[in-house]
Amino acid sequence: MPIHDAIIIGAGHNGLACALHLAARGWRTLVLEQAATPGGAVRTAEVTVPGFRHDLCAMNLSMFAGSAFHAEHGQRLARCGLAFVPAARPFASVFAADGGDAWLGLEQDLAATLAGIGRFSPHDAEAWQALNARFEREAPHLFALMGAPLPSWQAARALWRMGRALGLAGLADVLRLLLSSPRDWLTGHFESDAVHCLLAPWGLHLDFAPDTAGGALFPYLEAMAGQRFGMALGQGGADVIVRSLTAALGEAGGELQTGVGVRRIVVSGGRAQAVETVDGQRLEARRAIIANVHPRALYGPLLGAAAPPDSARARMLRPGPATMMIHLALAALPNWRAGAELQTFAYVHLAPSLEHMAQVYNQALSGLLPTEPILVVGQPTAFDPTRAPVGKHILWVQVRVLPAIPRGDAAGQIAAAPWDEIKAAYAERVLDILERHAPGLRQNILGRCVLSPVDLERDNPNLVGGDSLSGSHHLDQFFIFRPAFGRSRWRTGIDGLFHIGASTWPGAGTGAASGYLLARDLT
Ligand SMILES: Cc1cc2nc3c(=O)[nH]c(=O)nc-3n(C[C@H](O)[C@H](O)[C@H](O)COP(=O)(O)OP(=O)(O)OC[C@H]3O[C@@H](n4cnc5c(N)ncnc54)[C@H](O)[C@@H]3O)c2cc1C
Repeated sequence: MPIHDAIIIGAGHNGLACALHLAARGWRTLVLEQAATPGGAVRTAEVTVPGFRHDLCAMNLSMFAGSAFHAEHGQRLARCGLAFVPAARPFASVFAADGGDAWLGLEQDLAATLAGIGRFSPHDAEAWQALNARFEREAPHLFALMGAPLPSWQAARALWRMGRALGLAGLADVLRLLLSSPRDWLTGHFESDAVHCLLAPWGLHLDFAPDTAGGALFPYLEAMAGQRFGMALGQGGADVIVRSLTAALGEAGGELQTGVGVRRIVVSGGRAQAVETVDGQRLEARRAIIANVHPRALYGPLLGAAAPPDSARARMLRPGPATMMIHLALAALPNWRAGAELQTFAYVHLAPSLEHMAQVYNQALSGLLPTEPILVVGQPTAFDPTRAPVGKHILWVQVRVLPAIPRGDAAGQIAAAPWDEIKAAYAERVLDILERHAPGLRQNILGRCVLSPVDLERDNPNLVGGDSLSGSHHLDQFFIFRPAFGRSRWRTGIDGLFHIGASTWPGAGTGAASGYLLARDLT
């Protein structure tokens, strides 16, 4: 049996990116994945009707397309089939106005965005333009900081350069942004509910309700990056990144085994030496074992008694609220009541108001099924028709936010029960909401697949409690606190054992940063 330089546990895109970088530098690399297919939260499959390809979890690949990993390995991946489909109209929101639906969208065309905002508030159009100019100055420094190991000289340099470029007042502005809640930041810049509803849902994507401190960063980044770059979708499905990563890994001499779960990491003499698989193999690694798993598993069953005594904090990483995915095969795109133009946006958020978003979040955190959850409605076939038969469409519906364990229903209609028993009933509520905003939708449904929070975790143990982030991004679990203080540089306290993935800095999303940064660190 050959001894590998590195064994990577889990073929999430972080594990694969890490493996590719190491293999490209001559490391003999093996990736072990418990599921039948690689990709973790980036997978595409025909789960409704044959011929309709659904992104089971992530659909928006902008983070991957803009990542440092892609900048270095993009050409290699392109040779292995990586291709993006650009969406120049990345997102829009439908909100309540005068008893009906109104909408506002963000377009890569700045003049079009400004015209849209100007319909609601000339002041906000000006504020948007000012923020856009501010982003121009801040972006290189913010992205340098978000893409640096923490703590590190690289991060310190990024901060120093930010200070020199922006001045003390500019630096204070950035710091205030990092600490602000979405509501405080949004209402501090914009007066119209329309802009608040357009941007606040991006806080919810990362587990920030309108009033959670630290959440302003995400609406700001999504707004300004969306304005500049639009959204990147995967050609044929988000799994195009996984297919090209695995092909490039093979070309570089690395190996991937699927259907092979790891049950234990063998530590001896203070060093991680080998892994034991569920089917009883013992595989040794000469230089590194790299875990692309949740800390609850790493510092729990995988290490067992070998877990360092100070790993309890990381093991306790708090999940964010749960999510649910509803995949629809459709005869036609939704006939949006707010305006037919909405069919030309990649994401449509159904987000009636800031107050509504705050209420939904509180309901979910109290263990209640929200009366009317916030919906993220993805329309990938509006840009990439290859994902469905000619003239047909798919809809990617993410339900944000939900309790991991339902203890009741805020609407008083569904009895508290495990998700397996109530997911169909809750999906009906979601479809009713969609039908209200897009009359006739139900008639166009050709097939559906509902993935409850429990289904998501069953499929990928990293999604603890159906949490799409593998750990809340609240300030006490972000930056140097992810997954715990002292562990943010992917070290575990055990020689030769490293930890990457969404639970580690810089967190969830498809940016491949933790896998790539660790691999760079090791080579
Ligand atoms: C519903 C949903 C929608 C999302 N939408 C977006 C989006 O549109 N855009 C975006 O940027 N991000 C999105 N995200 C977040 C993003 O997809 C994830 O943060 C990211 O894919 C996580 O990647 P990862 O490499 O850390 O690990 P994961 O993708 O979680 O993969 C980890 C892998 O490790 C395997 N594994 C775990 N334990 C073991 C073991 N013991 N042995 C062997 N294998 C093991 C798992 O099976 C899994 O394949 C979404 C997430 C979800 C759940």
